[in-house]
Amino acid sequence: MEHLYDVAVIGGGAAGLAAAIACARQRNKTDIVIIEKEARVAKKLLATGNGRCNFTNTENNAQCYHGKDPSFQAAANRRFSPWANIAFFRSLGIMAKTEENGKVYPLSLQAAAVVDLLRAESRRLGIAVLTETTVKRITRREEAFFLETADKPVYAKKVIVAAGGLAAPELGGSPWGYDLLTSLGHSLIPLAPSLVKIKTDRRIPNALKGIKVEGALTLKKATAVAGYAAGEILFTDYGLSGPPVLHLSRLLCYENPGDFSLEIDFLPCFEEEELFSLLKERREVLTAQTLEYYLTGLVQKKVGQLLLKEALHCKVSRGVESLDDHELKKICRFLKAFPLAVTGTLGWKQAQVTAGGIDVADFCAGTMESKLLPGLYAAGEVLDIDGDCGGYNLQWAISSGRLAGESIAAALTEV
Ligand SMILES: Cc1cc2nc3c(=O)[nH]c(=O)nc-3n(C[C@H](O)[C@H](O)[C@H](O)COP(=O)(O)OP(=O)(O)OC[C@H]3O[C@@H](n4cnc5c(N)ncnc54)[C@H](O)[C@@H]3O)c2cc1C
Repeated sequence: MEHLYDVAVIGGGAAGLAAAIACARQRNKTDIVIIEKEARVAKKLLATGNGRCNFTNTENNAQCYHGKDPSFQAAANRRFSPWANIAFFRSLGIMAKTEENGKVYPLSLQAAAVVDLLRAESRRLGIAVLTETTVKRITRREEAFFLETADKPVYAKKVIVAAGGLAAPELGGSPWGYDLLTSLGHSLIPLAPSLVKIKTDRRIPNALKGIKVEGALTLKKATAVAGYAAGEILFTDYGLSGPPVLHLSRLLCYENPGDFSLEIDFLPCFEEEELFSLLKERREVLTAQTLEYYLTGLVQKKVGQLLLKEALHCKVSRGVESLDDHELKKICRFLKAFPLAVTGTLGWKQAQVTAGGIDVADFCAGTMESKLLPGLYAAGEVLDIDGDCGGYNLQWAISSGRLAGESIAAALTEV
């Protein structure tokens, strides 16, 4: 006689762990197994937020989510709001710390602490974990699901597919979740890498490699503004990285990146007219100096010298007093809107999240249960919901996972 679990969770990431814990807490003695293809659960979670795990955002709103029907996220995110998830983490022993723009991290700033405590709580609740086990097929046999693996099959009354998406294959990203669900009749919205570093014309970024600036970026398609984002921008040998870059990368997902350009505003704190007056003032104050010092103290020295060379095509040994108003206008323009042609993105390997996924129209927003196959649930990145940079993707993974877990607990109790 094969063992029949109450619940099998496919994927031991943020969504799968949250689902299993929520279900076990809600209904005593529920027999749950998490099936994870990697050697350990939560491999991706360990790498989140640069190892600090930005697990939610207190400025959560509908505009932060994307997909064919982004409103699908509302039910889960209302029931398990950022505050509810902060309380959930507190119940695991993780205290929260809110940083700029509402980003929430564990107080210890360690993703490893989050993973340790999620695993400890799973153990305490008696949740079984099968690692290095890939679910290759799901079939329904009378009242139970049959999950095919390379080893022994797993039988369960209810199944949650929390297998994530294609992003970051080295951290577990794979097409398995899509294959499992489409083979059961669910539809797939086209997939694209999102929250990913942007490749540009390399000459200038490479010359400034390693430098970070607090600036702003405007993404343009021909002359039309496609998006704007401010924050820390990092120059690299291939182009640009940093939160505003990841944010704007969402707009490139389903487009030809070569149709786009970026403009860097190195001084978003000044309007262009205001900056022009300031440059004129500096021409008076620094009149006895060479161009080497003209922008020093306004922007980073290396950035300033490079911009002057690009704007004026002259040596920095030239005197400041020789600058005419036309040249000041050019310098001002480069400081406010330095142009870079976009050539692509770093793709799936570097993407933080998958845009697209399993069509949410096939699922019930209030329970996460499939409308096509009762007893089957899905949560997290495998579904066609992706969030902005800043904690929104883990918020979605945790809230949708908890909703699936609690819905199953309620359904099992009713029987
Ligand atoms: C480098 C990086 C940094 C990030 N930082 C942040 C951040 O700070 N804040 C934020 O909100 N988001 C962040 N994200 C995004 C966030 O990590 C994901 O959106 C989130 O982890 C998705 O959770 P999930 O449980 O749906 O999927 P995953 O975390 O990908 O988990 C799915 C799990 O399922 C397993 N699996 C897949 N198929 C099978 C199968 N057939 N059988 C068994 N197991 C299977 C996988 O191995 C994986 O462990 C980051 C992503 C990356 C890559």
